[in-house]
Amino acid sequence: MAIRMKPVDVALVGGGATAAILGKELAEEGYSVVALERGRMRQTIPDFQSPYMHDELKYSVRHGLMQDPSVQTITFRNVIGQKALPMRQLGSFLPGTGAGGAMVHWNGQTWRFQPESFVLRSWVEERYGKDFLPADLTIQDWGITYEELEPYYMFFEKICGTSGIAGNLNGKIQEGGNPFEGPRSEPYPNPPMKQAYAGHLFANATSGLGYHPFPVPSSNVTRHYTNPYGAKFQPCMYCGFCETYGCEHFAKASPQVAILPFAMANENFELRLQSYVLRVEWDRGSKRATGVTYIDARGREVFQPAELVALCAFAHHNVVLMLNSGIGAPYDPVTGEGTVGRNYTYQTMSGASVFYAPDVRLNPFMGAGALGTAIDDFNTGSFDHSELGFIGGAYIAAYTTTGRPIHRHPVPDGTARWGVAWKKAVQRHYNSTATLTVHGSSMPHRGNYIGLDRTYTDAFGQPLGMITFDFPHNDRLMSRYVTSRAWEIARAMGGQQISVNWLDDHYSIVPYQTTHNTGGAIMGTNPTRSVVNKFLQSWDLHNLWVMGSSVFPQNAGYNPTDTVGALAYWAVEHMINDYLKNPRPLVPT
Ligand SMILES: Cc1cc2nc3c(=O)[nH]c(=O)nc-3n(C[C@H](O)[C@H](O)[C@H](O)COP(=O)(O)OP(=O)(O)OC[C@H]3O[C@@H](n4cnc5c(N)ncnc54)[C@H](O)[C@@H]3O)c2cc1C
Ligand code: SF4
Repeated sequence: MAIRMKPVDVALVGGGATAAILGKELAEEGYSVVALERGRMRQTIPDFQSPYMHDELKYSVRHGLMQDPSVQTITFRNVIGQKALPMRQLGSFLPGTGAGGAMVHWNGQTWRFQPESFVLRSWVEERYGKDFLPADLTIQDWGITYEELEPYYMFFEKICGTSGIAGNLNGKIQEGGNPFEGPRSEPYPNPPMKQAYAGHLFANATSGLGYHPFPVPSSNVTRHYTNPYGAKFQPCMYCGFCETYGCEHFAKASPQVAILPFAMANENFELRLQSYVLRVEWDRGSKRATGVTYIDARGREVFQPAELVALCAFAHHNVVLMLNSGIGAPYDPVTGEGTVGRNYTYQTMSGASVFYAPDVRLNPFMGAGALGTAIDDFNTGSFDHSELGFIGGAYIAAYTTTGRPIHRHPVPDGTARWGVAWKKAVQRHYNSTATLTVHGSSMPHRGNYIGLDRTYTDAFGQPLGMITFDFPHNDRLMSRYVTSRAWEIARAMGGQQISVNWLDDHYSIVPYQTTHNTGGAIMGTNPTRSVVNKFLQSWDLHNLWVMGSSVFPQNAGYNPTDTVGALAYWAVEHMINDYLKNPRPLVPT
């Protein structure tokens, strides 16, 4: 029989970014909160200190900060009818584990979604007509607008000390920023990063082509900065060990630096580590969550009673927890009915490399996770799709994120793939190659979803989640179009050779692409087509809330975390100011 813990007001599943936000804000209002995190504690000092942190084999190759796939993983297939197989080594995406979650080892690229993203179906139908979208693209509006979310974007960016140049201040386009972004109420809290030489070459080429280059908004902070909670940041050193590493220098916005210490200083908040949540318990009669059952550090089954449960376990984990708890109707891709697991989407990544003469030295080892120059002329709301036959878009960026030796070895097409010739080519091109990234949207398709696997289980005997996913035709067309623009830019950048990395015809779970998994527990206005309402409150159990990118109905052509953070602040404000004072469905059905 499970051990029963003292009841709390709020149980959070996970100890990453969204849990840190909810924990801090709820504890401050006097609510007792426990965050159940499956991983261990880690802090900037001692865990992320040099020289141990700059260990590429341990952190980039062996994924030292990530989920252990021998304990929990996911199975995958491209389409219904195929046999799904487990991801036994992390590949396409890298879910984090441990205090701080994946925002410990993120890059810090901090993008807002465009206003059109939040009302995508209405916007497309109004602009291009009702017949423009094929029936199998299950795009829908979010139920929230950019204008509603803007103050929460702003607050999250202040928490992260985000660095950049505003492109649109209160509707007025600003020189040097992104002219395609939605109106911002305030400038970025910090000035942009010093741009790398590759970024200058990109800016020259894209300006020459009539596009609008700007520095990528970055939560690798550019100067001494104190956030609204009192967290002190130091300026980024451009060490290039951002992605898949913790920052040794208090310069990258992570929960450890920006939020968690302020939650943990409050006696109302407890971060309970090595606590692996198996399921949410709920009462079938009253339709309320009663708490969560987890396995503790000693392997015991424990029940944590709570008045409110929030899933903060990252995109597909939230969905799998709902499915394993029997909450909501599982999505059925054959009938199109059910909601839990629906609209699973990802990101479409492609790019190009420009190989320069040896005397063009780009020094990629002086980089940072979000050091880049970008254009947004080909994102969803920026250009006309009427003759193109697809919806969505991408930003194109010249990032100088890292020159780490194991991972960075750009070589032109036709180079031998091993041996002396390959080594010579790496030596020749390491310092003289600029890389362009095409970071594209991903539209939901009726056949793409998250379900439960019937064969494979995790280390605790629970069914694994099963992803069925392939890039819809729409996304391949979109990616081909924007990658062709990247190719033109690469040509204008004046190198000696170019190679283009097109989106693969079919999604593969093997090579790393991004950890931008979205959907499966999506928000919306209609309980038959969404799992949570506009406040991220479950339609089925009003004291169950879902955070993170699992609530995105479709993915925009940007990195997700600015939107994830803004939505968490939006949700917790409504939880505190409205729901907890009078628990009920905030949107009547
Ligand atoms: C390599 C990498 C680079 C990235 N770079 C960027 C970027 O530049 N820009 C950007 O916008 N986004 C980026 N991201 C994405 C970003 O990290 C996520 O959007 C963000 O961390 C999501 O926060 P979250 O709270 O939803 O989930 P997480 O931060 O993943 O936290 C979830 C936590 O829940 C815990 N958990 C899961 N299941 C259970 C369970 N059953 N029981 C208990 N605990 C559980 C996990 O251990 C984890 O700590 C990147 C991600 C990765 C992996
Ligand atoms: S590049 Fe900057 S933000 Fe990233 S790990 Fe190094 S010092 Fe920290």
